[in-house]
Amino acid sequence: MKLAVFSTKSYDKSSLMASATNNISITFFENRLTSLTAKLAAGFDAVCVFVNDELNQDVLSELKANGVKFIVLRCAGFNNLDLEACKALGIQCARVPAYSPEAVAEHTVALMMTLNRHIHKAFNRTKEGNFSLAGLLGFNIHGKTIGIIGTGNIGLATTKIMKGFGANVIAFDPVQNTSKQQDIDFTYTDLDTLLTTADIVSLHCPLNQSTHHLLNDKSISSMKDGVMIINTSRGGLVDTASLIKHLKSGKIGHLALDVYEQESELFFEDHSESIIQDDIFQRLLTFPNVIITGHQGFFTGEALTQIAKTTITNLTLFAESKINHNEIT
Ligand code: NAD
Repeated sequence: MKLAVFSTKSYDKSSLMASATNNISITFFENRLTSLTAKLAAGFDAVCVFVNDELNQDVLSELKANGVKFIVLRCAGFNNLDLEACKALGIQCARVPAYSPEAVAEHTVALMMTLNRHIHKAFNRTKEGNFSLAGLLGFNIHGKTIGIIGTGNIGLATTKIMKGFGANVIAFDPVQNTSKQQDIDFTYTDLDTLLTTADIVSLHCPLNQSTHHLLNDKSISSMKDGVMIINTSRGGLVDTASLIKHLKSGKIGHLALDVYEQESELFFEDHSESIIQDDIFQRLLTFPNVIITGHQGFFTGEALTQIAKTTITNLTLFAESKINHNEIT
C-alpha cells in the first residue's frame, strides 16, 4: 500500500516510522491537504491527514480521481471531513478515536491551573527578580463547580482529575454514561443548568452542526459572572466575537483556548517573524486573563505513539479488507 502523509512534522514522521510495517510505503508531505495540494496524492492508495487538513467535496473528488481509496485521520475529531461526500465517492475513512484522553485532559487542567494561579506571569516575574504577589491572587478549585460539556473519553478523564481536586462536577451530554457516573461520582444536568451554575465550563464535545457556536452571546450571558471557560475541543464550538464581548464586560473572568475557529491559518507553524492578519485572534491575545496554546492538548509522547500504532493498524485492516471499529461511518 502506498500512503501519502499530509501536514507532516518531524514528530509525525518519527512516530509513524517507528510503528510502520513493511507492507506500507510512506511518503511524507509537509503541505496541508487542500484543493491546491490534493494533486500530490496522485498514485497513492491512501492519505493520512490531521486536524486542519481539508476534506471537503472538491478535495475528496480529486483524491478519488487520483486513485485514493482510504483516508486515515491521525486524530479523534473528524469535523473537517465531508462524510456524505466520502460515502458517495466510495472512499473509506478511519480515525484514532481514543489515543490518550489523559493527554488532553491533563492539558485542560494545566490551562485551568495556569490561569487560576497566574503561573505564566509568576514565571516571568521571578526571572526578573520581582517577587511581588500583586495581581497573582487565585482561587481554590476545591469546592468549586466544574461544568463538563461532553462526557466521552476526554470529558471523563478531565472529570476524574477534577474530582481529585475535591471539585463538584456537573456534566451535560445528550448520551449519558451512567455506569461511569457512579464510579467517578459526578451529576448529569441539562445544558442551561450547567451554564448558569458552573464556576468553570470546559468543552469536550465534538464539533458538528448541532454544536457549532454552542457558546455564543446568549449562552455566555447566562453564565456566572467571572466564569472561567476552557476549550480544548474544537474552535468552532465557541463564537469568538462573543468571547471578546464578554471578556471586555468582565462576564468571562478567565479564558483558555487550545483551539481556535480560524486556527488552520495559524497553528502548527512559526509566524513569529510575520504580521498576523487575524485581528480577532490578536485582540484575544491582548487580554491579561486569556491563555492560548496552539492545539497542543494531544501532544505527549504516549499519545503520538498510540496515534501512530492505531493509524498503522487502520491501514493494515483496510489492506486486508477486515472489519475495523475505527472506521467513520
Ligand atoms: P468522544 O467521542 O469520546 O466524546 C465526545 C462526547 O461528546 C460524547 O460522549 C458525545 O455524546 C458528546 N456530545 C455529542 N454532542 C454533544 C453535545 N451537543 N453536547 C454535549 N456533549 C455532546 O470524544 P473525545 O475523545 O472525548 O474527544 C472530544 C473532542 O476533543 C473531540 O471531538 C475533538 O474535537 C477534541 N480533541 C482535541 C484534542 C486537542 O489536542 N486539543 C485532541 C483530541 C480531541
